[in-house]
Amino acid sequence: MAEQVVAAVRTAPGVTELREFPMPDLPPDGALLRVEVAGICGTDVKMYGRPPFPDPVIMGHENVGVIAKAGPGFTERHGLAEGDRVFAEHYVACTRCEWCHQGEYRHCELTDWRTNPDARRYGYTSSDRPYRLWGGFAQYMYLPWNAVLHRVPDGVSAELAGLVTPLANGIEWALTDAGVGYDSTVLIQGPGQQGLSQVVACKQAGASLIIVTGTARDAARLELARVLGADHVIDVSAEDPLERIRAVTGGRGVDVVLDCTAGAGTAPVLLGVAALKRRAGTLLIQGELAAFDGFPVKAVTEKAITIKSARGHSYRACELALTQLAARRFPLERLATHSFGLSDVDLAIRAVGGESGPDVIHVSLLPWKE
Ligand SMILES: [Zn+2]
Ligand SMILES: [Zn+2]
Repeated sequence: MAEQVVAAVRTAPGVTELREFPMPDLPPDGALLRVEVAGICGTDVKMYGRPPFPDPVIMGHENVGVIAKAGPGFTERHGLAEGDRVFAEHYVACTRCEWCHQGEYRHCELTDWRTNPDARRYGYTSSDRPYRLWGGFAQYMYLPWNAVLHRVPDGVSAELAGLVTPLANGIEWALTDAGVGYDSTVLIQGPGQQGLSQVVACKQAGASLIIVTGTARDAARLELARVLGADHVIDVSAEDPLERIRAVTGGRGVDVVLDCTAGAGTAPVLLGVAALKRRAGTLLIQGELAAFDGFPVKAVTEKAITIKSARGHSYRACELALTQLAARRFPLERLATHSFGLSDVDLAIRAVGGESGPDVIHVSLLPWKE
């Protein structure tokens, strides 16, 4: 094994440098992941442009790889050995709190950089911290005893497994949070990797009507939404979405609205509230805007709308996503449109941010790609 590990490090807002780190000395309960794929999502675009703190960070929080080296304590605890392919959640758990006991590592305070300056989270934690390799945009990543890992089923390639995170979010938000199930009617706003993953989750769960919105530049993505199971797609730049939603629901509106847009301002929340059924619909929001004037609190109350937050995924959602990928029921590989090598991290993040054309859906960073 090499003595040095090459990693792409965010050193300032919108700046990446390739750096070499010494191969870490593993404790008996630690391991090393040879990173095969690090997925990139909208969160990376935000964190790259406006880092939450100035420390150098190896980004990359949607990571799949093969265990290259494992101490005996690690193997005993995880039941994983060298050569096993795993998906690593970005949350590094305390394993003791009420959330960790439920498999809800996303809520564990040890993983929450917003409230805990010592938090551990792949793609967020400073590379000045011990063991250094805390992100997937690197040849290797350090796995401590409390890493949260999922074995990737045989027959699922690393690149396909790179879709676990968006699909797990789809399952978590649509099914667990918003309660989509048999005969549900759903509006999914935004046909990016996240919106398309919601289509698959809703279809698999039995939704009877799936509507997906996008804009003129989303033509190819809206077409893929249809292939994956959407019943209707709407280009909101060409027609009034509310009118169309009313028409296809017989005037009733939908049971659930899921916001998977990026940079769309207040429109998704306002359309969501208007498009929900007369009473007791569910609106899942992203919280992209800190606040806005004109939030229709009266309509929300009168329609008895439940608001849910899009916030990562549980352990179970990741397992379900891996099962879904292994089943090959949906052509999910069509989401994986672009891949980049380690020296092109900057370009890769900008591609997700929409700077390289309209055909980007899911972007993979392949640290060993030349
Ligand atoms: Zn992400
Ligand atoms: Zn915990």
